[in-house]
Amino acid sequence: MTKILYGKPVAEAVKEGLKSRIADLNDKGLQPGLAVLLVGEDPASCVYVRNKSRACEELGIFSETIRLPRDTEQSRLNAKIDELNADPRFHGILVQMPLPKGLSEREVVRHILPEKDVDGFHPFNVGSMVQGIPTFLPCTPAGIMKMMEYYDIRPAGKHVVIVGRSNIVGKPMANLLCQKSPRANATVTLCHTATENLQAHTLQADILIAAAGMPGMIREEMVREGVIVIDVGVNRIPDPTAKNGTRLCGDVDFDRVSCKAAAITPVPGGVGLMTIAMLMQNTVEAAENCLK
Ligand code: NDP
Repeated sequence: MTKILYGKPVAEAVKEGLKSRIADLNDKGLQPGLAVLLVGEDPASCVYVRNKSRACEELGIFSETIRLPRDTEQSRLNAKIDELNADPRFHGILVQMPLPKGLSEREVVRHILPEKDVDGFHPFNVGSMVQGIPTFLPCTPAGIMKMMEYYDIRPAGKHVVIVGRSNIVGKPMANLLCQKSPRANATVTLCHTATENLQAHTLQADILIAAAGMPGMIREEMVREGVIVIDVGVNRIPDPTAKNGTRLCGDVDFDRVSCKAAAITPVPGGVGLMTIAMLMQNTVEAAENCLK
């Protein structure tokens, strides 16, 4: 029978583990703090930011959401980040992506101090990750590693095929999985829009990670019997039966692919919950680092 890999119990376990670490920090007079910068009013971003601040509240992490108008200039945004870099209340800084047109995500990422970069996007942290040096790991790939550990999915020696090569999901995922360590040690194939015959690759996967942002693109004929499927995609599609006329779905045709898969993550309810849990973990770690 296909096992459904829910994110909730894993995220709860991560958050539970953080409670005693936060209590220790409190005993030492420190409350972990996270600053979330939101530029503009993209509805999806507003939801993500609200969920992050709720998670902070739940755990006793101090958090503040700083809202800037969509026509904010790069220099003003950089100056705000400088301010937060210097503010000792915040151990972590997160700038919600995507930014409105005209603003450079690359410049923003470089502006955040690496020691406050709890998203793990700063080139210094990315370089450390690639070299296997302990650092803040990007939250979604780190969350997937945690899910695999929780469900005793061992990528070592397996062929993992990843669809999508973004800097926040696909590339760091590939890097984490090919590290020389017992929890990684996978053979990784990274696919993208220039990949020829995608299906020939996905059919070889022992573990398939879909992170393309294309609703239902992984169909049943693209996977082999017994595959483990991790669906990272979060796509909003029209659904006349839903209250607001839309619903969320992943990059995988869940109903059909799940009939062939040994295990599969649902959307919603899978990887998404892990991303926030790992953000909380990075924020606590950033606060702990201040005491070292
Ligand atoms: P990006 O748009 O930045 O990257 C998408 C990647 O997929 C690109 O590398 C692109 O290739 C590749 N791709 C797109 N279409 C195809 C195709 N038909 N065949 C092969 N490769 C393709 O997306 P993100 O990485 O930011 O996000 C991916 C998905 O994951 C989205 O649905 C997003 O909402 C979701 N997401 C979910 C998170 C969670 O917490 N669950 C967190 C972050 C993202 P190329 O490089 O050639 O353009």
